[in-house]
Amino acid sequence: MKKEKRVFLVYPSFPSGLFPSISPALLSLAAYAAQYNPNFIVRIWDERIDGPFDPGIAKDALVCITAMTAQASRTKYIAKKVKQVGAYDVVFGGIHPTACPEEFLEYGSVVQGEIEGGSFTNVLSDYNEGRLLAKKYFTPPGSLENLLLAPDRFYEYAAKLSDNMISDGRGCPLGCSYCSIHIISGKTDIGQWKKL
Ligand code: SF4
Repeated sequence: MKKEKRVFLVYPSFPSGLFPSISPALLSLAAYAAQYNPNFIVRIWDERIDGPFDPGIAKDALVCITAMTAQASRTKYIAKKVKQVGAYDVVFGGIHPTACPEEFLEYGSVVQGEIEGGSFTNVLSDYNEGRLLAKKYFTPPGSLENLLLAPDRFYEYAAKLSDNMISDGRGCPLGCSYCSIHIISGKTDIGQWKKL
């Protein structure tokens, strides 16, 4: 019997416990996973709402973890735990793994770049077909014109957090020295999301 395919989209907690906004990245990942294969069981697990991720449920599953710098240690810890219980593999994305992929390669694969570039679909395809995941996937940011919206059921997640945000573009031409936006997504303000 063919095993069911399960995809966990994990948002690690912050050491400070702060940062109450939703992760638009998880909603986008959910949108692409649900479209790629409607039979995938896709679950968002935000540790700020759902508590510590339970590694015991991750056997044979694809575990995708997004991380900013403050979440990096927790991200690696979750990856180690789910590997111990036999997760299919772990995929890291988000700004910190994109900027510092080498930090994460001993724990899994890294998806660099933005969701609209298509690299996450390549990950899903490898998982679906039972292929070994590549260590790195990369596609550059691009137009958001055709960015997918997550199915309604995933917005229950957004309703549970006090602050919400919308990400409607990529890149920034200003290049402030303390900011990573222009390093990760470029200095051209591209892809304004006209659907808004
Ligand atoms: S902080 Fe970043 S996003 Fe904001 S204006 Fe400066 S470079 Fe642009």
